[in-house]
Amino acid sequence: MTLVTCPLADERAPGEARGGSELERPRATKDEGAGGDGAARLGSPGGPLARRRLGAHMSIAGGLFRALERGAALGCDVVQVFTGSSRRWTSRPISDADLAAWEEARRRTGVVPAMAHASYLINLAAPRPAAWRQAVRALGQELERCRVLGIPSLVLHPGAHMGAGEAAGLKRVARAIDAVHAERPDDPTVLLLETTAGQGSCLAHRFEHLRDVFGAVAAPARLGSCLDTQHLHAAGYDLSTAPAWRAAVEAFDRIVGCRWVRAFHLNDSKRPLGARVDRHEHIGRGHLGLEAFRCLLTDPRFADLPMTLETPKRDGRADAGGDVDRADRVNLGVLRALEGRQRVGARARALASAPLAATGPARPALDAPPPRPDNAAPHGAPPCPATRASRRS
Ligand SMILES: [Zn+2]
Repeated sequence: MTLVTCPLADERAPGEARGGSELERPRATKDEGAGGDGAARLGSPGGPLARRRLGAHMSIAGGLFRALERGAALGCDVVQVFTGSSRRWTSRPISDADLAAWEEARRRTGVVPAMAHASYLINLAAPRPAAWRQAVRALGQELERCRVLGIPSLVLHPGAHMGAGEAAGLKRVARAIDAVHAERPDDPTVLLLETTAGQGSCLAHRFEHLRDVFGAVAAPARLGSCLDTQHLHAAGYDLSTAPAWRAAVEAFDRIVGCRWVRAFHLNDSKRPLGARVDRHEHIGRGHLGLEAFRCLLTDPRFADLPMTLETPKRDGRADAGGDVDRADRVNLGVLRALEGRQRVGARARALASAPLAATGPARPALDAPPPRPDNAAPHGAPPCPATRASRRS
């Protein structure tokens, strides 16, 4: 049964997607040769396919508003942030001054804080009742911070079953979401369950896991999904060629439904297909490769969704007016060189092999697993989300 296809994978124009009417998009014109690198560009300039809502996860070091400024300096349309500590149960309250600076930076930069990422400590599948209640409480606090800051989506790794089994874990996730939603009936923020690499006992590495949670909660309209390209690949969903991309998206649509997808994390993979390891790589330099991102960035079904990098950070000359983060800049350039293209062009290839920083080692990527060899997380937290998340908290 073919419900949807990746329309550009077989060289048909955007808008010619087969399938239901919800997939119909305006037909774009074909502008051969635009960009001058030999890769034909699809979509008229300024048209619905010409520009995606791209950005990166940005540090809030120095104040929440600094994430918006850092995003603006890199040319981000959107950013993702932690609204507090990614590794502690409590965060400093958002003061009136924090909020005023945030709103002012939002107006001044025009950068949209499209999503927040929840703390890695939250495990909605925690088998121990006390840990489960703590996770529910913490998720409520995360949603409250999003409400205050006007952030429309909160991305969450659903959790790890820690030996209780997938079915039991998924039930606890659904019950936790229901508990949080019952306490916050008018919350405007949509909770986005992120697909995971499937490290340890982490849930959500199979599309069926998302389907089961969406099907079990009382208010599924308050949920969505964030697809992480590295996690999908590591979980065994090949995205690295056009036919593979098409098959993976078809599978997601058949099992879950593409309408649930509300955001993407754009990361290449340090580990091969099916490795079940959460290791992000710079765009075009890992096992996914440029073609995977070209497919995503030309797929009209996802044209309106926010997409943020979570690739390793390399500091240029910090925030002293120089290059704030050259790696993010290069990765965004690669993505811009791929969007709307019929095939990977010379510019994208050149950028994907350009130096990322003059000096200094890379900082860990977001979602990179902890350095401990046993990969165990403290305090009953799930083993995979707990991470050294560099300086982003
Ligand atoms: Zn991610």
